[in-house]
Amino acid sequence: MKLKVLGCGGGIGGEDRTTCFMVDNDVLIDAGSGLACLSLEQMCGLEHVFITHSHMDHIALLPILLDSVGHIRGRPIRVHALEATIRALQEHVFNWRVWPDFTRIPSASRPYLEFNPILVGQTLDLDGRRVTPISANHVVPTVGYHLDSGAASLLFSGDTTVNDSLWDRFNSSPNARYLIVESAFPNRDRSIAVASKHYCPSLLIPDLAKLTGRPEIYVTHMKPGETETIMQELRESPLALKPLSNGQLFDF
Ligand SMILES: [Zn+2]
Ligand SMILES: [Zn+2]
Repeated sequence: MKLKVLGCGGGIGGEDRTTCFMVDNDVLIDAGSGLACLSLEQMCGLEHVFITHSHMDHIALLPILLDSVGHIRGRPIRVHALEATIRALQEHVFNWRVWPDFTRIPSASRPYLEFNPILVGQTLDLDGRRVTPISANHVVPTVGYHLDSGAASLLFSGDTTVNDSLWDRFNSSPNARYLIVESAFPNRDRSIAVASKHYCPSLLIPDLAKLTGRPEIYVTHMKPGETETIMQELRESPLALKPLSNGQLFDF
C-alpha cells in the first residue's frame, strides 16, 4: 500500500492544509482541505473515502468532491464512517440546505454517494488491503485507522486524546511499522487540549511510553504556527518523533 499525505495540518494558511491522506489511487482517509491538491482525473478515480469523524477539518471538501466528479463517474463514491458520523453528515451537510443529498442525486438508484456504516474493530478488505477502524477518544464519535498490507502496517490515531486502545492495538500488531499520531496543541494550551479532547506533548509523552515496539512516529494535526513549539516539547520523549509533512509518502 502507498499512503500519500495531502494534508496534515490543524488548520489552513500557506502550506497548511487539513487532514487528507490518499491510499494508492482509489482511497482517501478524511476529506479535509488537502483534497484540493488532487486533479480532476485523480478525484474521478476515488472509490472509497474513510472518514474519521464529523468535524469540519476532516470533511470540508467531501461535499464539493462529490459534486465535482459525480456526473463524470456514473457510479457512487462509498463513504465509510461510524453510524453517528453518517447521521451528522446527513443532518447537517447533505440536508439540501447546506448541500444537496447526493444519496438521491441524480436518483436514489444511481446516486453519487453511498454511505457504508463501519464498526470499530471490523476490518474491510479492499483487494488484500485491510482497513480497520480503531477507537479514538475525542469530543464526538471518532475512529482512527489501521492500514495493513499484510507485509507491514500503519496506524493513524485520528483526532484523539489519551487513548489506551491505540497503544494496545499497536502493541498487538506484529507488523506495525508506522504510527501517525496527533498532537494538536502545545503545552501552554493543555487546558484547551483537555477540553477539546486532543493531545498536547505533556499528554502524549506518557502515552508513548506504553509502546512496546519501536515504530517510526510522525506527528500530525499541529495548529498552524505551532509546529516548532510542539516538536520542541516532544523532544522530552526518549523516542524520536518527526513532524508529518505534506507530500510525504509511506510505502508498506
Ligand atoms: Zn476533531
Ligand atoms: Zn481535526
